[in-house]
Amino acid sequence: MKLFKGGVHPPQQKNTAGMATVAMGVPSVVVIPMVQHLGAPCQPKVSKGDTVKVGQLIGDTDAYVSAPIHSSVSGTVTRVEPMVLTGGKPVMCVEIKPDGLQEVFEGVKPPVVDSRESFLAAVRASGLTGLGGAGFPAHVKLNPPKGTTVDTLIINASECEPYITSDYRECIENTDGIIEGILHVLKWTGIGKAMIGIEDNKPEAIKVLSKAVSGIPSITVHPLHTRYPQGAEKTLIYALTGRQVPSGKLPADVGCIVMNVVSVAFVASYLKTGMPLIKKRVTVDGSAVKNPQNVEVLIGTPLKEVFDFCGGFKSEPGKVIMGGPMMGVSLFSLDLPVLKLNNALLAFDEDESRIPEETACIRCSRCVRACPMGLLPFELDRLVNAKKYEEAQKLHILDCIECGCCTYTCPARRLMVQTIRIGKDFIRRNTKK
Ligand code: SF4
Ligand code: SF4
Repeated sequence: MKLFKGGVHPPQQKNTAGMATVAMGVPSVVVIPMVQHLGAPCQPKVSKGDTVKVGQLIGDTDAYVSAPIHSSVSGTVTRVEPMVLTGGKPVMCVEIKPDGLQEVFEGVKPPVVDSRESFLAAVRASGLTGLGGAGFPAHVKLNPPKGTTVDTLIINASECEPYITSDYRECIENTDGIIEGILHVLKWTGIGKAMIGIEDNKPEAIKVLSKAVSGIPSITVHPLHTRYPQGAEKTLIYALTGRQVPSGKLPADVGCIVMNVVSVAFVASYLKTGMPLIKKRVTVDGSAVKNPQNVEVLIGTPLKEVFDFCGGFKSEPGKVIMGGPMMGVSLFSLDLPVLKLNNALLAFDEDESRIPEETACIRCSRCVRACPMGLLPFELDRLVNAKKYEEAQKLHILDCIECGCCTYTCPARRLMVQTIRIGKDFIRRNTKK
């Protein structure tokens, strides 16, 4: 096993690892955005006043890089209009008032899969997007460009971010589903083997997965060093295969496809039941939360209702984060909904939320040593602050995976990852024009 360069060791705080998942049930309302993935937004397929059922298609598009959206409840559509979500931009949303009956849509039935094409069509119809990262549509990921040869399916069970245990619970609670999903993907894509990568701080998950794959030579389990960001796509591929994904290239360019462990288990579930992606396991934790736990939540559920389900807050939270503390997004409202790619909701008290004041860089180079992408974070920080975007691009700012290791390790508390994110956003917007 290879060890990637850089990285950090934040306190793991896997407080909820030993807690079985609890299903939350039906909320008072769901708000379902028409963009929950990388790629083209979906167009609403329902109007205000329509009645819908669980699993019914409510948003889709003809665009290839996209994923359809389904209703997580049965009830009545009360609004179809843009709402401001986590990115601060208005996004078209469908609001549904549940009737509490959770009637399943008549069209929900197992898909007929008898070829690679029908498998990819089924994955698209399921609404599956990457469940552990950026939300890349799974049917696109599983269909690499012509001319690339993929020989390895990598299953990401690393879960290297502090606090989050939702993937770990999948490994413990749905071990057979994971293996079944992997076998489906291998069979229909023609990929020869699968490697499950999992940090060595999860011995119980390693044990059950290893037992489940015994006698299946095409699937192997690989304990990895516990070091953040071990679960980032490029670091994971390097750790498991020794292959390095070049700047600007994709995993498929080095013969790999990476899927999250929950995503691959969902493939098995969809092929068996035909129920599209309408719910998600979310780790709810942080110093402000009364009863931290893993909760199975219907997509579109308002965050406030998820926290209420966990007993509410011990004290007024100073910061609420969607995702982990290293890469998550700080939220401005608890009315925002749970999305497909959510794996954690963290709420911290005022003390833990305080942001220390930035001071001048002392050129200690700790950020350089911590950067897993081999970048010069302090220099990118300086260039973006000086609006020298072209120079930042020459220093490969777009290769930054926004892991936050630089900021975490900086004695001057430079908010480098935030600055770099702004720089990347500026460059991308201006390159598209
Ligand atoms: S520059 Fe980007 S990739 Fe490097 S440590 Fe900072 S956030 Fe991570
Ligand atoms: S870690 Fe902070 S102080 Fe040290 S070089 Fe990087 S930005 Fe400067």
